[in-house]
Amino acid sequence: MSARVRKAVEVTGIVQGVGFRPYVYRLALARHLAGFITNTAAGVSIEVEGPAEAVDEFISRLPVEAPPLARITQLAAHDIPARAECEFRILPSRPGENRRVLISPDVAICNDCLRELFDPSDRRFHYPFINCTNCGPRYTIVCDIPYDRARTSMAVFAMCTDCQREYDDPLDRRFHAQPNACWKCGPQVELWDGAGACVAPALAPVSSRVPTRGAPTDPIVEAVARLQAGYVVAVKGLGGFHLAVDATNSAAVSRLREGKRRVEKPFAIMAADLEAVRNFCQLDDASRALLDSPERPIVLLSKKPASPIADLVAPFNREYGVFLPYTPLHYLLFAAGRFQALVMTSGNISEEPIAIDNAEAVARLNGIADFFLVHNRDILLRCDDSVVRVTGDAPRQLRRSRGYVPVPVFLNEEVPPILAVGGELKNTVCLTKGRHAFLSQHIGDLENLESYGFFETTISSFKRILEVEPQLLAYDLHPDYFSTRWALARSGIERVGVQHHHAHIASCMAEYHLDVKVIGIALDGTGYGTDGAVWGGEVLLVNYADFERVAHLDYVRMPGGAAAITEPWRMAVSYLHKHFGEAFLDLDIPFVHELERRQAAVLVRMLERGVNSPLTSSCGRLFDAVSALAGIRKQVNYEAQAAIELEAAIAGDGEVAGYPFELRPEGSGWIIDTRPLFVALVNDLKSSAPAGIISRRFHEGLADVLARATKLIHGKTGLTNVCLSGGSFQNVFLLEHLKRKLEADGLNVFTHFEVPCGDGGLSLGQALVAAHRRSH
Ligand SMILES: [Zn+2]
Ligand SMILES: [Zn+2]
Ligand SMILES: [Zn+2]
Repeated sequence: MSARVRKAVEVTGIVQGVGFRPYVYRLALARHLAGFITNTAAGVSIEVEGPAEAVDEFISRLPVEAPPLARITQLAAHDIPARAECEFRILPSRPGENRRVLISPDVAICNDCLRELFDPSDRRFHYPFINCTNCGPRYTIVCDIPYDRARTSMAVFAMCTDCQREYDDPLDRRFHAQPNACWKCGPQVELWDGAGACVAPALAPVSSRVPTRGAPTDPIVEAVARLQAGYVVAVKGLGGFHLAVDATNSAAVSRLREGKRRVEKPFAIMAADLEAVRNFCQLDDASRALLDSPERPIVLLSKKPASPIADLVAPFNREYGVFLPYTPLHYLLFAAGRFQALVMTSGNISEEPIAIDNAEAVARLNGIADFFLVHNRDILLRCDDSVVRVTGDAPRQLRRSRGYVPVPVFLNEEVPPILAVGGELKNTVCLTKGRHAFLSQHIGDLENLESYGFFETTISSFKRILEVEPQLLAYDLHPDYFSTRWALARSGIERVGVQHHHAHIASCMAEYHLDVKVIGIALDGTGYGTDGAVWGGEVLLVNYADFERVAHLDYVRMPGGAAAITEPWRMAVSYLHKHFGEAFLDLDIPFVHELERRQAAVLVRMLERGVNSPLTSSCGRLFDAVSALAGIRKQVNYEAQAAIELEAAIAGDGEVAGYPFELRPEGSGWIIDTRPLFVALVNDLKSSAPAGIISRRFHEGLADVLARATKLIHGKTGLTNVCLSGGSFQNVFLLEHLKRKLEADGLNVFTHFEVPCGDGGLSLGQALVAAHRRSH
């Protein structure tokens, strides 16, 4: 028999409000161990006593079967004297001791709750707000810390005796589940018409039994009937309203597009289950696991050729954004088997923030939604769905939001409290605390007035629930960004301006805890350069405190400034004019034949005089020009559409040679000259090469020249670590081909997984740069 020992175990991370204490209690009981567990300021404290073998086994099991919402960041154990106890207890937490604990993200309904939801003998049969300590809302219902019911939007619902009993019982799955509720005591669903008048009131709970779903006035049954009839129904979810229509009904999808003023940008679809997903998408193991994960992100999946989904859902796109139901209400909508998939797009018009409040939704979505499926559990923080894509078997975050926020990014060292306010598009903010960087949910495009309020609310609620008062403010150098102007208007706080692409690379370095000088390849659409030009095709030498620009795409003018972003044909004219002069108008290629001569003449005059035509080294604008010349996209309806469709068009195999680019030495670095590319491209157009081949040659050539530039820089500096960042790396072909070429040259390549490569990840990099500017 092994000796009796006692060990003290400290666990930190997300271990409160997630069922961790009952879990540990059961783990100890099963092994007949004694001791206790209690919540502490940083997590939980455990003392465990028994035979040495059993104690060791207990500690090694601890992280393995932890509850789904728990995130253990540290686990430390040491020996202490045994006390000959024979009982394991859950000690009450001392007041104020759980203030520094991390709040869990919102997560999907768990399997236990799902089983109860459809069990006619369960007291929560068909109850749309069933949850437990392993699932349900968290972040979006919190208004302050510590996390308990009084500081959530559940405060207005007093628990009935049955719910209270579960809440108080350490062995119950609902022990301290703050949103615990049932038919008798919890929130309810109603169906309203487009003007906000109730058409199907909440089902009245009968004292002895649960209400019967399927009754003629059941709001969910009524909503299903409306969706089947082709109506647009706004559905209140976890982090905001969705606009829903039957995804197989073209007329309904078309009406939704008109209402939302969204011409071609793809809509996300919620599939009934994994079987349904297989009917319209290719599904690999990693994507299937991700779809079914408690975070339930939107996963980008390749379309199958023949699909029941309406074409208008994601026109000209290779992929669908698909997710599975994640609230009990979603499951109830699909329960009758009426839909393979529903379009579930953010409840907003164009790029405004998603609506969260019932009255606000009716006011803002008036004229778009025919009906509103609402409930009376308030959403306190809006949180859009996350978007993830699996490449090379690992999930890459494209929009890190619901399900992931507010799990921090863990840093390799302590940093001062910093607020980084991000960029302009796809804005997020980042607040640091010790070794944690809290990246906010997707805030959206700050070009919209409506987003300003959301930006400010997110900052103040982050400061409150994380208990951080920043000492430093980090912002982008672009003088016209709303976030920059906001930062510059604050007084009494030290401020640090951070160059856009420096921040992108620093964000990638932070993800890998790299605190050494790296070669950074930052490719995107727009970022303010230190020379006032619009940068976006940059190779930099980067450490956190500083950067040096060593290579970049040659400057070209953007005729019309911002207009050149929405009209890629302007960039094509600009590049042709740059490389062929005014004679480009005589080129025998379809693009020139189709060019409206008067418009072209105006553009040429602008280019020659440099009027309203800023210089740019943007990679996004180069994609635009090639896309327009290849006849794929001359005008865009959403950001990066021309580049996305150019990538989607890729055809041919590795035998197709890349277009040539020239590396021209300049100063101590290189200019990536695009002249040879356009000469070869024009020749291909003259010989009617297919767009798919042109696209492939362009992608190959671009990856090739970036790899060549990096190799030269490596030769000169000896640096071997290369970070890839910026929105252009959402392009899987470019990412994978460049990575492969660099690795073939013996370089270590780092790419984003946990944090978006686009501007959604910018604030993290800004925070790290600010931290190091100050300490160096
Ligand atoms: Zn549950
Ligand atoms: Zn109850
Ligand atoms: Zn960017």
